[in-house]
Amino acid sequence: MIYLKTDEEIELMRVANHLVGAALAEVAKHINPGVTTLQLDKIGDAFIRDHGGIPLFKGYRGFPNALCISVNENVVHGIPGDYRLKDGDIVSLDCGVKINGYCGDSAYTFEVGEVKSEVKKLLQTTKEALYVGINAAVEGKRTGDIGNAIQHYCEDRGYSVVRDLVGHGIGKEMHEAPDVPNYGKKGYGTLLKSGMCLAIEPMINMGKKQVKIEKDGWTIRTADRRPSAHFEHTVAIRQGKADILSTFELIDQVLQKK
Ligand code: MG
Ligand code: MG
Repeated sequence: MIYLKTDEEIELMRVANHLVGAALAEVAKHINPGVTTLQLDKIGDAFIRDHGGIPLFKGYRGFPNALCISVNENVVHGIPGDYRLKDGDIVSLDCGVKINGYCGDSAYTFEVGEVKSEVKKLLQTTKEALYVGINAAVEGKRTGDIGNAIQHYCEDRGYSVVRDLVGHGIGKEMHEAPDVPNYGKKGYGTLLKSGMCLAIEPMINMGKKQVKIEKDGWTIRTADRRPSAHFEHTVAIRQGKADILSTFELIDQVLQKK
């Protein structure tokens, strides 16, 4: 069952997603060598609650924290803990919020201190791939068009696309139908209709596409332990151009001041 949202519901989704963007920006202020991932989680958790939201990930199938924080070779679903970020790391923050009954979901991979140029390039390409995917996310196209656009953009540049995890519909629930893979064939998959809300989230590896799950039962890491990046927006499907409901603007403002 795919739920098409009314214009009013889409505005509520925008509110939820704006809070996600604001929470990520607040946490971004504190991303520096020496900070632990648990400290970052606490900042995000408090910010979400102070603004009337519920952190969606906390308690989801037993996930213990508000944010998924995944460092370097960890792709997604990292559990915040006592790891201290160090110069040259990359750290992916994934945040989900529910407010007024609607969900927001967005992710961003940050540089810690001075990062190698090849790693910077992975981040830049993954972020660009997200927008390439969003450009394909319009009424009348299919989920395969989104995945195909992301896949080719990344593979043409020598990166690989994680297959085991995909984007998703989103609304009153964090995960709704349909699946939104970051790979696929043009013209295949679910037909996109105006009012569909999707979380588009390329997970792109510097090395091979294979991933493994860590012993904690959550953390997904690259099998070859090379770095991975993750950027995610929630969008509403429209005619001609998707409406991006989440925002990186507040994050960009924080990064410009750093
Ligand atoms: Mg997410
Ligand atoms: Mg998501």
